[in-house]
Amino acid sequence: MSTRRLVVDPGHPDLAAILEAADVLRGGGLVAFPTETVYGLGARVTDEAAVRRIFAAKGRPEGKPLIVHVSRREQVSRVARDVPPAARALMARFFPGPLTLVLPRRPEIPDAVTAGGDTVAVRMPDHPVAQALIEALGEPVAAPSANRSGARSATTPEEVLDDLDGRIELVLDAGPAPLRQPSTVLDLTVEPARVLRQGAVPADALRRHVPIA
Ligand code: AMP
Ligand code: MG
Repeated sequence: MSTRRLVVDPGHPDLAAILEAADVLRGGGLVAFPTETVYGLGARVTDEAAVRRIFAAKGRPEGKPLIVHVSRREQVSRVARDVPPAARALMARFFPGPLTLVLPRRPEIPDAVTAGGDTVAVRMPDHPVAQALIEALGEPVAAPSANRSGARSATTPEEVLDDLDGRIELVLDAGPAPLRQPSTVLDLTVEPARVLRQGAVPADALRRHVPIA
């Protein structure tokens, strides 16, 4: 396979490029795209075969779940069976942005997304290219960082291609990811909530909205 690279403006991505990338996802392909944190390697969340291809392309261990990316708050309930008040409060304040929430999963999403677990991780990226891509597809996109498993998270299209050239269909190249650090992952399926990964949103900012262990 040869990997195509489509250059897009990070602030005002060309619609033709976005529609083409959405078509690749619709056809079961993998698209690397910029978010405000790092580059993501995306597949259509409902396409189990495509989601499995993410693991193959990255060499990712099967037991490691993926973050689901949405472009609208309403889409969270397409993958989460319950969106508790604490989640709604955090979504109102931090979506879109570098915060990932772990919630109870809907049973109908592919097991590969959640690594077979009862929970699903969701976030809304604050990047025009990521938002336009998910909007054009019309459904959430499962996307871990766009690098080989165990390597540094890819924050530029060059790093994506260093790791994944020939293993994925397309890279949307919008230059470096602005934050260059991952999202904070907060588990809301336990009380008090628990930070599973430190990231761009400090735990103290979250504590103003929900009790955290
Ligand atoms: P990355 O693969 O770099 O995108 O990182 C995704 C992070 O989110 C990893 O640390 C995963 O373990 C974490 N994650 C994804 N889904 C879940 C989940 N359902 N429960 C807990 N952590 C999750
Ligand atoms: Mg990663």
